[in-house]
Amino acid sequence: MTDAPTPADPVIRFAGVTKRFGPLTVLDDFDFAVAPGEKVTLIGPSGSGKSTVLRILMTLEPFQEGTLELAGIAYHQPKGRGAFRASEQHLRQIRTHVGMVFQSFNLFPHMSVLRNVVEAPMVVLGLARVEAECRAVDLLRMVGLSDKKDHYPSQLSGGQQQRVAIARALAMRPRVLLFDEPTSALDPQLVGEVLGVIRSLAHEHDLTMLLVTHEMRFAREVSDRVCFFDKGRIAEQGEPERIFTNPEHPRTREFLQSVL
Ligand code: ADP
Ligand code: MG
Repeated sequence: MTDAPTPADPVIRFAGVTKRFGPLTVLDDFDFAVAPGEKVTLIGPSGSGKSTVLRILMTLEPFQEGTLELAGIAYHQPKGRGAFRASEQHLRQIRTHVGMVFQSFNLFPHMSVLRNVVEAPMVVLGLARVEAECRAVDLLRMVGLSDKKDHYPSQLSGGQQQRVAIARALAMRPRVLLFDEPTSALDPQLVGEVLGVIRSLAHEHDLTMLLVTHEMRFAREVSDRVCFFDKGRIAEQGEPERIFTNPEHPRTREFLQSVL
């Protein structure tokens, strides 16, 4: 593994994490750390475990062994004790620190745009409606959708829905924002508007971003670090400039040739 940084006080840390789906080991003794404010992109072939990393962080997947640290809180699963499942308290802590944007938007279809954005801050953080709406209106302005707040998701384009999903994630004021192929489900002409919003977020100093994408030019622009995944391991990582112009690992070269 090349250029593996070990931030002194990471906001995300996987230490010796093993994740299996039945007989399939997806992550084997996986180590990975992200510094506060860092923007990291995961690239690599389909099935290499990128989404699994994000889903474990979001507590959507249990893991079998190892330690996960998130915003100073550690979750440890000793070997041979089955799968780690977060307690309700853990879930709340994680969901207040981490937001996720999915490929398929996942908006609540029966709620207006505004309600999609205010729901979690009101229910999880206990924010008063006026305060949550104030926050939502600011965020919808930021993603360029002020005029759509009373619309329903089905009345929006995919690009607009994804921008609402980003506003919804930000409404919790997370320290960490995860993106899992946020533009893969979009028609090509809608990709740019979503990347534009993510690009502006990448300038936010305090926000830690972990992004899975196949948009290599974009990854090169916004990332502090790019990690190439291969079969559940980080085969190579480093500054985007180096990874994209001078990859060392043959698998990275092969992958980049196939997508660029
Ligand atoms: P990527 O995001 O890099 O394409 P994933 O993390 O989605 O890869 O998947 C890693 C591996 O785990 C793949 O082999 C995939 O088939 C398998 N996998 C993912 N989710 C499940 C699941 N719920 N049950 C069984 N296998 C799964
Ligand atoms: Mg995936």
